[in-house]
Amino acid sequence: MRYLMVVLAAAVLAIAVVVGLVVLARTFADLTPIVAVPVPTRVEILETHEETAPQTAETWEEWHSQSPNWTFTQADITAIDDTGYLILLNRENSLSVEIDISEMQQAWPTVPVSFIDDIFLHPTAIAAIRQMLDAAQADGLSGLHITSGFRTYAQQAALYENTVNRAFVLPPAHSEHHTGLAADIMAVGVPQSELAQSPHGRWMAENSWRFGLILRYPQGSQAITGVAFEPWHFRYVGRVHAQYMRQNGLLLEEYLARLQNLGNFDNLEISLDGTTFYIFYEIPRNGVINLPEGLQMAISSDNMGGFIVKAW
Ligand SMILES: [Zn+2]
Repeated sequence: MRYLMVVLAAAVLAIAVVVGLVVLARTFADLTPIVAVPVPTRVEILETHEETAPQTAETWEEWHSQSPNWTFTQADITAIDDTGYLILLNRENSLSVEIDISEMQQAWPTVPVSFIDDIFLHPTAIAAIRQMLDAAQADGLSGLHITSGFRTYAQQAALYENTVNRAFVLPPAHSEHHTGLAADIMAVGVPQSELAQSPHGRWMAENSWRFGLILRYPQGSQAITGVAFEPWHFRYVGRVHAQYMRQNGLLLEEYLARLQNLGNFDNLEISLDGTTFYIFYEIPRNGVINLPEGLQMAISSDNMGGFIVKAW
């Protein structure tokens, strides 16, 4: 009888414990939000960037004032003359506002083209391509010409719809051709499929950086750029950035990531033609970014919320 009592008591206790645990578990289940698998976002990148600031500083202005090498002034981002030379467009990043063809210049007769009336580019890109083609000519390579430059959204949409292999084409608003900073360059008598192995294609891949132009989709870069190897597609970014990307073997996506990961007071130093250029990465705070004082500057947004400041 006493045994039975003990067994019964133990059973009641066990049931009570189990019921209690279930109630507790349910309570916590209600309180704990469902956490999805974390996906890194742009916001997280920004926060990581900001965490590199000195821990003692309380404000953005204070962080900058602690920099031993630079004094900074503030500038409203709406007042910045944004060159756009480092704007990132790919499958993830698109233009928010279509750029008008009135900001472009007809490429012919400054550079040879396949369609005289139809090819427009950013004036800076035309000048750079002209220099590159002159240098190629001096090395005995004639016949280089532009086959595609600036495109409207409508033109890109038509191209996208009519292309079977979309490894080579981006949807409208995502193409660099909307900026007028990208051009497709071919050689007379060289089929597109043979450009990469031709003297013309090899020369451009080897030398374009000297003129501020990058081979935007090199072989083996599709996992990062989202576009298959295009030996004909060159993008203007400027000589300073192009040289750094070349020397460090970086794609545009990789270069921008490196800049984004700079600490708040860090900058890259790039020497070109006897001048040292300092590259800063700035993220606006309340619509304001900090600019180094007393230097010449060229500024470009990256289309990801930040600004690249080239100072010299
Ligand atoms: Zn292209």
